[in-house]
Amino acid sequence: MKKRVVIIGAGHGGVQAASTLREEGFEGEIIMISDELDAPYQKPPLSKGYLQGKQNAQAILFRSENYYNDNAIDLKLGVRVAKIDSEKNEINLSDGAVIAYNYLIIATGACNRRLRFNGHIAEKVYYLRNFSDAKMIEEKINPASHIVIIGGGFIGLELAALAVEKNKKVTVIETEDRLMKRVLPETLSKVFYETHVAHGVEMILGVSVVDIIDGKKIKLSDGNEIDADLILAGIGVIVESELTENSEVLFNNGIVVNPFQQTNIENIYAIGDCANHYNPFAKKSLRLESVQNAVDQAKVAAAHIVERPFEYNTVPWFWTNQYHLKLQMAGISFGFDEAIIRQSPKPECFSVYYFKEEKLIGVDSLNRPADHLNARKLLTAGISPSKMEVADFEFNLSGLLKQEI
Ligand SMILES: Cc1cc2nc3c(=O)[nH]c(=O)nc-3n(C[C@H](O)[C@H](O)[C@H](O)COP(=O)(O)OP(=O)(O)OC[C@H]3O[C@@H](n4cnc5c(N)ncnc54)[C@H](O)[C@@H]3O)c2cc1C
Repeated sequence: MKKRVVIIGAGHGGVQAASTLREEGFEGEIIMISDELDAPYQKPPLSKGYLQGKQNAQAILFRSENYYNDNAIDLKLGVRVAKIDSEKNEINLSDGAVIAYNYLIIATGACNRRLRFNGHIAEKVYYLRNFSDAKMIEEKINPASHIVIIGGGFIGLELAALAVEKNKKVTVIETEDRLMKRVLPETLSKVFYETHVAHGVEMILGVSVVDIIDGKKIKLSDGNEIDADLILAGIGVIVESELTENSEVLFNNGIVVNPFQQTNIENIYAIGDCANHYNPFAKKSLRLESVQNAVDQAKVAAAHIVERPFEYNTVPWFWTNQYHLKLQMAGISFGFDEAIIRQSPKPECFSVYYFKEEKLIGVDSLNRPADHLNARKLLTAGISPSKMEVADFEFNLSGLLKQEI
């Protein structure tokens, strides 16, 4: 009898899981359920090419319109999975339908954290998570002259860059004393700060928003007030436990999975932003919010279902584009004890190599795509150049890979 895989979510993880199952020869049924109305699309371009006006809706789709039919992937759009019944191997949809599964893959991503003051969610503040949000922001940005962005993380800053390029007055408010502090060292925060300021962005750092009145007036912790035509916020994401709440599936800051992406229920998998996994590069359990993580975990779950299992063990990587600055990150650098800069002769082209106990653990590359690709290979192979080799721009780091072969 043919088996059925049900995938909840048609984002980066969900679509990759369905594709890999077919590529690996899975002949059973695949049902993929999305609570969004739009055909499955990529998220990173929303805060880059799409809102910049450089990519249209068609250009950001994962697959052609026919792909799902041609590959016998039953894509159900605009319907939410409300409940998982792991005893009966069934899910309940918001429209009342019940679907049975042999394997279930949860690829439901994460949701934006929302600003709350006095126990209430602030009104008329816009967040970017999906295509409907992007369409809404597109509509709101055009007539606005002063846009205030709360949060100096990746998404907030990508929005700031595209808004200023549309000749808007832009103010960014960040609680920390520097940009992207959670993930970047001071050297890189400074380059991004200076570039935004040079483009005319007003940066307010080290100050919190304490209230927002009617989506127009922002009150700050230092007593100042700012008037805005439009308020956007990018203050991080959370994974909601709603879906797993009444099931046996273990939840702890995300759905807890083993190296094969299985939850505590063996025929239920979780992948991507929603999966709390032990990461061998971070040497701890965490959730990663990146395309790489969603795509690679999807491949692991699919391989396990077709009984060709392998463990999740991929070097984490991520990128952000702001103006001419293209930052690519490989590995996980937190906990580093020394950071060495490899400076190319060109300005704003360098990589930061992070070491922990003499071992390379991560590399951030600014406008240096070749360094990034090389770093991923070195980290994958577990090859650690010395700090002197890294600091010497003339030293050929990729040669270390050849020696290994
Ligand atoms: C604006 C933006 C820019 C980004 N830029 C980058 C970048 O530059 N580089 C990078 O690596 N990453 C980036 N990311 C992060 C990256 O997009 C995510 O890490 C990735 O999408 C995670 O994939 P996923 O499959 O886990 O979740 P998602 O792609 O978020 O897909 C989850 C889907 O499940 C649906 N869903 C949720 N609950 C249910 C339910 N109960 N029933 C049915 N459907 C449900 C959701 O609506 C969503 O469509 C960006 C994200 C955003 C929002």
